[in-house]
Amino acid sequence: MVTRRILPALFCLLFLSCKAGRPAPKIEFVLGTFCRIDLYESGSPRLYNRLFARLAELDRILSANRDDSELSALNRNAALKAVPLSPELRTVLERALFFAEASGGALDPTVGPLVKLWDIGAKNPRVPSEDEIQAALDMVNWRDLELQADGGALLRRPGMAIDLGAIAKGYAADELVKILKETKVPRALIDLGGNIYVWGGKKDNTPWRIGIQNPLDDRGSYVGIVETQSISMVTSGVYERFFTGQDAVRYHHIFALPGTGAGKPGYPVSNGLLSVTVAAASSMDADALSTACFSLGYEKGRALAEAAGAKAVFIFADKTIRGSAGALDAFTLMDKSFRMEPKL
Ligand code: ADP
Ligand code: MG
Repeated sequence: MVTRRILPALFCLLFLSCKAGRPAPKIEFVLGTFCRIDLYESGSPRLYNRLFARLAELDRILSANRDDSELSALNRNAALKAVPLSPELRTVLERALFFAEASGGALDPTVGPLVKLWDIGAKNPRVPSEDEIQAALDMVNWRDLELQADGGALLRRPGMAIDLGAIAKGYAADELVKILKETKVPRALIDLGGNIYVWGGKKDNTPWRIGIQNPLDDRGSYVGIVETQSISMVTSGVYERFFTGQDAVRYHHIFALPGTGAGKPGYPVSNGLLSVTVAAASSMDADALSTACFSLGYEKGRALAEAAGAKAVFIFADKTIRGSAGALDAFTLMDKSFRMEPKL
């Protein structure tokens, strides 16, 4: 059975006073997920079109799932030749490599062969054989992605492939926020398949209240609420994309890589965590960090988030919740079956 996000992951509950007659938010399927943008009182068709056109443009650059994307051209040329990069792809690859190094390889943009092999969240997910997994793992190593001084990029070994699923939606959210700044939109909510950006505050200047999804229940219930404004919040979790194998085991979509302590290499991360939510002004950083922290676990993940100036909330299978320094200050527990560990 394949489970995919059917609607934008509405773990985001916003208690904003909703004036009758204001323009409706817009939802489109792009970047492999449902993207929802709510511009509130600034919601002109022209601005919505501009924002969704930018998302479509980024999909043509960053998607690993379409043959005509710029990223696919880079992948096709693995071990053949260096490929010139658009400024967008270069920015995302540079940041991905930064976090690959900072996370000791827990987040690795060259994870493409493993993602394709498992095919989780796509058409034919399956549990591959040990040999297949080993062969895919042999092609994963961010050190073999070379960003050249003249602007090109080269994948050094045959069969290598980049996958930006862990970071691209964050970059896209930041690009939308650039447009919101430029057009002086005072408040907006961006939800790119659970990758949230709350722009501005509420009309009365009080913070937004954002719900964090209960990872044990994908029906939109939440564990707690965070009060915040002008920030991105991104969650990586076992419930985001998964399939249930014939062995009745649930396999989710974030893979443990060798030497990172995240579980058996090449298999879904298995470290007692159910989800990690990261808040940061840069949605690209929050996105990369949510995946990296989920893989690294609490101690190393917390240190990484803190070094990057972000806040992270970790939810464990034993129903405990822990935060990086200051992360639980604005967090209110709603589901009392979970337990908050002492605040840092
Ligand atoms: P989502 O795509 O559900 O928002 P994430 O941001 O956590 O969740 O990214 C997960 C995606 O990142 C996977 O679907 C896959 O494309 C890719 N991925 C899986 N494992 C890794 C990894 N160890 N490092 C980098 N990217 C990964
Ligand atoms: Mg991510």
